[in-house]
Amino acid sequence: MAEESLNITEIWTQTISRIRGKVSDSDYSSWFSRLRFDGEKNGCVTLNVPSAFFRDGFESKYRALVESTLTEISGKPMTVKLVIKKETEGSRNSAAAPAAKEAADKAMQPRQVREKKNSSDCQLNPAYTFDSFVPGENSNFAYSAAMAIAKNPGSVYNPCLLYGGVGLGKTHLLQSIGNYIQQNSNIKIMYVTTENFTNDFIQSINDKTQSQFQKKYRKVSVLLMDDIQFLQKKEGIQSELFNTFNDLYDTGRQIVFTSDRPVEELRDISDRLRSRFERGLCIDIQPPDYETRIAILKAKCAEKNFTISSDVLEYIAKNISSNVRALESCITKLIAYSTLLNKDISLETAKEQLKQIINSNNDTSGITIDFIIRSTAAYFNVSPFDIKGKSRGQSIIIPRQIAMYLCRTLTDYSTNEIASEFGGKNHTTVIYYVQKVSSLIQAEDADTINTVTKLTNLIKQENKRN
Ligand code: ADP
Ligand code: MG
Repeated sequence: MAEESLNITEIWTQTISRIRGKVSDSDYSSWFSRLRFDGEKNGCVTLNVPSAFFRDGFESKYRALVESTLTEISGKPMTVKLVIKKETEGSRNSAAAPAAKEAADKAMQPRQVREKKNSSDCQLNPAYTFDSFVPGENSNFAYSAAMAIAKNPGSVYNPCLLYGGVGLGKTHLLQSIGNYIQQNSNIKIMYVTTENFTNDFIQSINDKTQSQFQKKYRKVSVLLMDDIQFLQKKEGIQSELFNTFNDLYDTGRQIVFTSDRPVEELRDISDRLRSRFERGLCIDIQPPDYETRIAILKAKCAEKNFTISSDVLEYIAKNISSNVRALESCITKLIAYSTLLNKDISLETAKEQLKQIINSNNDTSGITIDFIIRSTAAYFNVSPFDIKGKSRGQSIIIPRQIAMYLCRTLTDYSTNEIASEFGGKNHTTVIYYVQKVSSLIQAEDADTINTVTKLTNLIKQENKRN
């Protein structure tokens, strides 16, 4: 309804309050609490926003709604201009349109004060941001999903599980979500490792402070939980996580997990909890390809303001293929060497200095499924053909399941790829056998441990020689 008599301050106040009724609390607090009204000229309202990320997200999500609401309330066409302006105490209080700002702030105040104070509980590494993450073919999907969640927590991809091998950036992406939300809104988040969650829970039982424990984890709007493969088989902790999950999920709050393996390969996890993990979006992060490894190395050098010649970068990228942490260690080592000894880094120096890191990362690279099958067959004195075959005799089932387990632990092949190399079996068969060997190892079955250790060493040694 058009109301001629309203001035721009009143129009803005009404616009904000109408929008408040239309969007969820969490969206309101993510997006509208950080907007600052900064005046109007010729039907164009200027709004200050805290960052480019925020501007882009707001642009695509809410700009049209704000413009149409402004137009409706003022009765004349109105547009919006978003200007990036870092928030300071001054800008928060100095008002171009005091009444409007006061009204908008008032609505947000109790939440802001409470949530700002609590957000310091959250131990995030400030270096883990979307800006410092280099996405590639291997991680594009995970990167985009994490970004979408950060921009819109609770409404897309909930829950979400990011899984993949060690050092591939799971913690980096998980914390990027946290850092992004902390920078762009007042939403309360919690980042916790599964280990700390477990310790915290046990402590709360010892101290009889369970209700505080529950409050701590259930009052957050976004729960980021790292490394759920470390969830212990204890009923108490799983049931606590199950209830926390339900509480958050049922009230539309965001949950993101990471794990070093897909849900179906998580051991020791109750069916009801597993079904909760499976309910959402599960995305894997694969090792980066050569081009992405080069891009990551370049980004790490740029971050540290250091130049390393491209032949050295290529040497590193060729020799380390499945762990970004190891790529980073190479750069750190070369920079330390060059700075401390005041020497340039030639390819020869790099080879000499990186020998150890590269060797320790290399002893499994190049191992193929076929090579594992042949080595396992020789060890058990059976034929590779039988290992890949259908026979279910005990004398062949054991070598087959050990070989599958070794494929899973010594290579980056997926269960689908392994299944097809084992005579076109179903990938669930691989998962089943791998799990079986894992549980035997966990139950400290001496025979299994002995065989797996011996074969692993044999395969690594033989691989090095070739
Ligand atoms: P994970 O949790 O998967 O074991 P991390 O997230 O701890 O791995 O990553 C290991 C290191 O590698 C971190 O220092 C992280 O910043 C870096 N890293 C991993 N992936 C990337 C990437 N794509 N771009 C930039 N840095 C990365
Ligand atoms: Mg991690």
